Amino acid sequence: MLETEFDIIHHYFTRQPCRRDDVLTGIGDDAAVLKVPPERELVVCMDTLIEGVHFPMGTPAAAVGHKALAVNLSDLAAMGAEPSWATLSLTLPEPDSTWLEDFAKGFFALASRHGMQLIGGDTTHGPLAVTVQAHGYVPPGQALMRAGAKPGDRIYVTGTLGDAALALRLPGNAQADLRRRLEYPEPRLDAGILLRGLASAAIDISDGLLADLDHLLETKGLGASLKIEELPLSAAFSAAWPRFAKQGATYYEIPLSGGDDYELCFTVPERHSAEVERQLGSLSCGCTRIGLIEERPGIRCLLRDGGSYQPAATGYRHFDG
Ligand code: ADP
Ligand code: MG
Repeated sequence: MLETEFDIIHHYFTRQPCRRDDVLTGIGDDAAVLKVPPERELVVCMDTLIEGVHFPMGTPAAAVGHKALAVNLSDLAAMGAEPSWATLSLTLPEPDSTWLEDFAKGFFALASRHGMQLIGGDTTHGPLAVTVQAHGYVPPGQALMRAGAKPGDRIYVTGTLGDAALALRLPGNAQADLRRRLEYPEPRLDAGILLRGLASAAIDISDGLLADLDHLLETKGLGASLKIEELPLSAAFSAAWPRFAKQGATYYEIPLSGGDDYELCFTVPERHSAEVERQLGSLSCGCTRIGLIEERPGIRCLLRDGGSYQPAATGYRHFDG
């Protein structure tokens, strides 16, 4: 029986697969002591998942552990960083040992795949919430930024869009492969690292392509055109789509603004585009060219026949036809 936060920390979080040389003191002291390698810049991010807000009640504990880390790794990927350490703040309604066991499994399976060590955290009592802080490295001056796109740059995304958002919206149980995209997103770290020195700007897609592309554009007051029939959709998405379409939605609505994709959206100057397509083509996620950065502000969604596609009202600011 787990009595105190100290039991929980000791039992679930001190025994972990990955031990790094650059962790001088990890879990157990008042704070961690870390050695940042010379000739590296430290990249740091943090994200919180709250039950009922960021993941549905009843989400499997292993998925919560995975996703809490994955959403942070996705931010590191968008910076072109190589992950190193994580801290974990866990707020629990009760110390449920089965839940904690599964949570730790999901968390550490992903952490060890990326050579990350958990170096500390906090454990408190309250409604279920998980905050992770992730750390990573980039060579000096090589972090990928949101600002940096120029008119004429090509716009790409990794993987496929809309799978997780469709899983969340499907009545009953979504197909297993769509659910997996929702519960176990795969951060595109390899892609981020390959894009260093090639991409002019990058962001990860957490709130939907249109919203996140807009963040990338607004830093310089630029615009974009998207060829929406080029958006990469999975076979699982196309197969499950008819079940959702009955609710009156249009086909591109979910891939454009559904969210929870955790793919990268990035821009590439024309002179680097062949190299990017070659490099990312060697990864399982691949990449797809979906549009062009333009001088004129706003995002224009174009159809192959020359017409324009009007996204459903989504509350985002910069739509013009
Ligand atoms: P303090 O009271 O000094 O803040 P705590 O009792 O909160 O210390 O934590 C003791 C040690 O356990 C610290 O090294 C802290 O980083 C670590 N720790 C606490 N909670 C977690 C957690 N959920 N995951 C990983 N490490 C944790
Ligand atoms: Mg202390």
